[in-house]
Amino acid sequence: MTANPTRLGAIREIEANEAPAAFFNGTGDSPEIFGENVFSLPVMAKRLPKSVYKSVAATIEKGEKLDPAIADVVAAAMKDWAMEKGATHYAHVFYPLTGLSAEKHDSFMEPVGDGTAIWEFQGKILVQGEPDASSFPNGGIRATFEARGYTGWDVQSPAYILENDNGSTLCIPTIFVSMTGEALDYKTPLLRSQNAMSDQAKRVLSLFGHKDIDNVVSYCGPEQEYFLVDTSFVNSRPDLLNAGRTLFGAKPPKGQEFDDHYFGAIPERVQNFMFDTERALFKLGVPAKTRHNEVAPGQFEIAPVFEKANLAADHQQLIMSTFKAIAKKHGFEALFHEKPFAGVNGSGKHVNFSFGNGNQGNFLNPGDNPHDNAQFLVFCAAVIRAVHLYGGLLRVSIASAGNDHRLGANEAPPAIISIFLGDQLQDVFEQITNGGATSSKQKGKLAVGVDALPVLTQDAGDRNRTSPMAFTGNRFEFRAVGSDQTVAAPLIIINTIMAEALDYMATELEALVGSGTEFNDAVQQVLAKVMEQHGAAVFNGNGYSTEWHEEAVTRGLKKLDTTVDALPEYQTPEAKALFSKYGVFNEAELEARYEVALEQYLMAINVEANLTEEIAKTTILPAAVRYQTELASNVAALKAAGVDADLTDLNEVSGLVAALRAGIKGLQDAVAGQHDHEGIAEAAFVKDTVLPAMLAVREAADSLEAVVADDLWNLPTYQEMLFIR
Ligand code: ADP
Ligand code: MG
Repeated sequence: MTANPTRLGAIREIEANEAPAAFFNGTGDSPEIFGENVFSLPVMAKRLPKSVYKSVAATIEKGEKLDPAIADVVAAAMKDWAMEKGATHYAHVFYPLTGLSAEKHDSFMEPVGDGTAIWEFQGKILVQGEPDASSFPNGGIRATFEARGYTGWDVQSPAYILENDNGSTLCIPTIFVSMTGEALDYKTPLLRSQNAMSDQAKRVLSLFGHKDIDNVVSYCGPEQEYFLVDTSFVNSRPDLLNAGRTLFGAKPPKGQEFDDHYFGAIPERVQNFMFDTERALFKLGVPAKTRHNEVAPGQFEIAPVFEKANLAADHQQLIMSTFKAIAKKHGFEALFHEKPFAGVNGSGKHVNFSFGNGNQGNFLNPGDNPHDNAQFLVFCAAVIRAVHLYGGLLRVSIASAGNDHRLGANEAPPAIISIFLGDQLQDVFEQITNGGATSSKQKGKLAVGVDALPVLTQDAGDRNRTSPMAFTGNRFEFRAVGSDQTVAAPLIIINTIMAEALDYMATELEALVGSGTEFNDAVQQVLAKVMEQHGAAVFNGNGYSTEWHEEAVTRGLKKLDTTVDALPEYQTPEAKALFSKYGVFNEAELEARYEVALEQYLMAINVEANLTEEIAKTTILPAAVRYQTELASNVAALKAAGVDADLTDLNEVSGLVAALRAGIKGLQDAVAGQHDHEGIAEAAFVKDTVLPAMLAVREAADSLEAVVADDLWNLPTYQEMLFIR
């Protein structure tokens, strides 16, 4: 154990750590806690007049137009319900372009003027709010228009009560738009893209003879990876505290190479944390179902059951904020950064998605005989077309400084967006290309060799961890999303490019049928054509291999390794045409996405560069110089005593101290040089000059960590942060 007082203090604190009493005590784990704090349909059914309830339910379940006349009644019922549960305040919750959630809180209290007050909540306040929009990024939209911003009630995402230690708040999910209606958030375009996709999907469905077609939605089940690190360590790591990732730290003697953490037993302190978060999430109606350890030490995963994309996106944000808050109560910091520790696996968020509606089910369900399931094949082919034509947009939707550390490294899907279909579908689509599909490979039975064990069935398709977009039985899994990102960003793109692809399928099919082609033949023809034009996006092999990276380029797929490479995808004429055709972004809104992503990239790296310099100068250099002085005094003392002095250690440390000083100077120069550039050129400069300069500082510092006396080293080490809990 270390002799450094700072680090030792942190370890002692952790040893003394006692599990807090359950944060949400009282209710236990009875099934009733699920959705207890949600103003859900059943709650509304009890509390609203029948006609009002029917109208709200039609909007929520079928996406029918909201009747503004009901707002006052709903607001009053919501307030009564919330106050019975102890809420005194309400908040419009919105999802600005920072990717975080924002809230503006107000009390229900209204002074009446005679020294007393009433508690009220009017319909107009439920429907519309006006937060100060000026502190949220807008990518230039407001400069052209006005500083005002409005929030608007999203009826389809239910209101809920957020409990705090000292009070509770009624939270209302909302959209966030400018004075003139431009989207300043993620929810507005997500809802628009959903509608666009629904319109086109309905055309396809009616070609298949369906009558009663409900609005189509996308479903999303996001798997979230995260790290837990003890607060006592984080408090002495300004890099983790302010940038969410370590900017220094030598590789630990024991890393993740044994794979002993993956699906291993979950440590008790972590389990306590998980029980508490899940209880909180259950109360909020978030179906947090699956939990396990991940590959890296200190890394875990949570996966809620899939929901409609709009709700899943709101819930995903709630999962992250709940984790952050409850982790602190357990003495942990929940890290969502994509790469908190160099040399250790990073964190992603797998966005599982499918399309469907209440009447016709999930359109990506292949059934037992996909070759015979024309409707499934049409939807699946639409995904192939969408990914092939607009892989660049999928890529840019998940571009960030953090995710750059992950994509392209051999732990996450590469930055090339391809599709994995699995054996069974690959075979079916090959048959289609060769003239028509007549059979599907079938599921097997697994022989375990022990009679007392149940017979296990083998899936018809394997999993592929190296593909960014993998078919996994009844959905696709977009695996390249960063752990810190909102799932709304990729879902907006997925919906929009699916709208285009389904539009194409419907138009082709309608034309063929219109000119007398028999429907099944028309489907075969369109499928074959899609495979001919877009089959290049299908790749079933190892996405990590260098051969694939070369082959992908010859296939014409985009290889956009970094955020800087990806950002221009927002500005292409194809992107502008696509988003305006389907009413998802006008040109100003699309340009704003580009501007904000660029700004966020620069800000993230600037913070890291400043921290690198500060920590190097104020923590690492002093430790190194002290040790250098100690060694020098030792040499001087030995010489004075007439003993032969070995200069090896002193020379090594002196060399590294010089390298560290040179690194700091190099970083300062790089940061100064950044200001000669603007826009994407500034981002390119940051990527090509500032990031390597940071790395040079880190290399010298990490080498020093391995030689400087342990008692002088104040930064908690990788070993301590990853293994002590
Ligand atoms: P794995 O680790 O095997 O990928 P998990 O159980 O961790 O699986 O997560 C799978 C996620 O996919 C869950 O959120 C699950 O609810 C979701 N999912 C399952 N079916 C669908 C579907 N039809 N559409 C969207 N998401 C789905
Ligand atoms: Mg998965």
